Amino acid sequence: MDHFDVLVIGGGHAGCEAAAAAARLGARVALVTRRIGDIGALSCNPAIGGLGKGHLVREIDALDGLMGRVSDASAVQYRLLNRSKGPAVQGPRVQVDRRRYADAMRAAIYGQAGLTVIEAMVDDISVKSGRVTGVVTDCGPVHAKAVVVTTGTFLAATLHSGLSSKPGGRHGDPASSALAQVLAGFGLTMDRFKTGTPPRLDGRTIDWSSLEMQAGDSDHVRLSSDALDACRPSLCCGVTRTTRETHDIIRENIALAPMYAGLIEGVGPRYCPSIEDKVMRFGDRDGHQIYLEPEGYDTSTIYPNGISTSLPEAVQRDFLRTIPGLERVRMIRPGYAVEYAHIDPRSLTPALAVHELATLFLAGQVNGTTGYEEAAAQGLIAGINAARAVAGKSPVIFDRATSYLGVMIDDLVMQGVSEPYRMFTSRAEYRLSLRIDNAGARLTPTGIGIGCVAAARQRSFEVRSAALETTRLVLQRLTASPSKLQKSGASVKQDGVTRSAAEWLAYPAVDWSVACAVWPELLVIDSSVASTVATDMRYAFYLSRQTSDVANMRRDEALALPDTLDFSSVAGLSTEMVDRLTRSRPGSLGAAMRVAGVTPGALTSLLSFVRRAA
Ligand code: FAD
Repeated sequence: MDHFDVLVIGGGHAGCEAAAAAARLGARVALVTRRIGDIGALSCNPAIGGLGKGHLVREIDALDGLMGRVSDASAVQYRLLNRSKGPAVQGPRVQVDRRRYADAMRAAIYGQAGLTVIEAMVDDISVKSGRVTGVVTDCGPVHAKAVVVTTGTFLAATLHSGLSSKPGGRHGDPASSALAQVLAGFGLTMDRFKTGTPPRLDGRTIDWSSLEMQAGDSDHVRLSSDALDACRPSLCCGVTRTTRETHDIIRENIALAPMYAGLIEGVGPRYCPSIEDKVMRFGDRDGHQIYLEPEGYDTSTIYPNGISTSLPEAVQRDFLRTIPGLERVRMIRPGYAVEYAHIDPRSLTPALAVHELATLFLAGQVNGTTGYEEAAAQGLIAGINAARAVAGKSPVIFDRATSYLGVMIDDLVMQGVSEPYRMFTSRAEYRLSLRIDNAGARLTPTGIGIGCVAAARQRSFEVRSAALETTRLVLQRLTASPSKLQKSGASVKQDGVTRSAAEWLAYPAVDWSVACAVWPELLVIDSSVASTVATDMRYAFYLSRQTSDVANMRRDEALALPDTLDFSSVAGLSTEMVDRLTRSRPGSLGAAMRVAGVTPGALTSLLSFVRRAA
């Protein structure tokens, strides 16, 4: 019988990051998952990153996590979304080779020292005297001092296809029913969500010649700062649309869709609706766009992004044939929906531990999120904090001002979820300073401090930091008059004031290429270093205003609310406010402000209570 420090249940995106992070911190870790072959499986689309999600992956990478590196190692196409918009809202997205992604993730997991993989189904979590002592699997018990649950869409899950349904967590995989009961038995509030996936198609039966093709970017904006350029050829996607005929078939058969037949009670992801939902809610329009994404280099399987469905197989086959390019398509596997239990994340601390059971952590889709990136990011935080809890160290909490990780976890544990939660840049109030290019500067120093960043990344971080600092100093030293700028083609006002390069870069008419024309010595600076420094200088005014906003926010955060605070003893709080605050357990006044439904009056009562107690 083995004894571990940290045991992670589930080898999905959250589980892999949790296990690897805990092991990087020096914990003895077991990753217990139902099937080793499923480690790193992408249940739905073969792509990582995107708007908001790309930020999360860069932050995982900044803490030496796996997802960015594994994505770059298996990339088939790169695109920087929102390229024409400001740098704060750009989102790198990578389409990956599904098989290579899983292979690379398995290799990373098996290559991690201190991490043991166990193939087993966990049916129970053992607890003694308020502390987790391990788990019971179908192969026997395994002891651990802390447990991280990352069971994704598997808890008490049901697969739906047309009017038939059966227990299951994903195509071909059983549900995790016993564990759902165990978590409910711990007093965790549970609810149900649903998600779905499209059919998979045989690319050899698609008429590509009739379709618009979309290539990736020629410059690859990677998800990991450590990535080497693999230089493999980029694969193209086909673009097509549903037609009026497609919509007619869907409408005629809508009673056979489980959601419309009343067979699904769970709420689905708002930003990823099924095609039947799009047709019923948004009508015909001029058709709904579909991206035909290749699943890899050595397979002809195509993922049709945009037509997730759980209509019966025969109906799927019929409507597919009404789509341009798919007239003769062969469906390899039909789409389906999965409905599953998740916990109310307000039961968790910002370290992702259960309030009443400090060594039990939960991360990923089980907390009501959707998406690989959201899951992986939570896994990383839960893994770090599980290892620290076992070592008797205080949790590491990332706040909203320094990371999307902090934004997501704060949203989850304070607000809870009423629909599957996905990340967007609009969720971050300090997004101007939370860019993809400065994730390392924001998070790697903390990662180094807690021992989560390996020596190689620490070195590359130090090299980059030194280059950034040198470049800033050079830009402050170099000066030029407006006439010199004008001679280099920049239309700036002739006010006769000589300014530093750093000051000139704040002017819209002065970008890096203008700066290089004025000061040719800048041409030797690495393009990624130049881009970060130039962006900082362009937005210097707004960034400094944001810094003072953050300082104000931190002052509120500093007003701590004790763990043991009995909210019913705070004068002036209504029963409803006591209930909301007790459920969310904010650790500070700033956190209390973000509890859903907490009124300004309740905050005033809390403020005077805390001031009196201080
Ligand atoms: P998962 O990746 O699901 O991993 C969970 C792991 O836990 C699995 O390896 C499983 O075998 C293991 N496990 C479960 N129970 C046990 C147990 N008791 N003992 C041992 N191991 C166990 N996301 C989107 O963003 N958009 C979509 O459109 C979308 N569609 C989806 C459609 C389908 C049909 C499915 C199944 C998922 C979809 N997802 C979608 C969700 C996406 O797959 C998840 O967001 C992501 O995989 C969550 O990662 P995770 O690590 O939390 O869980």
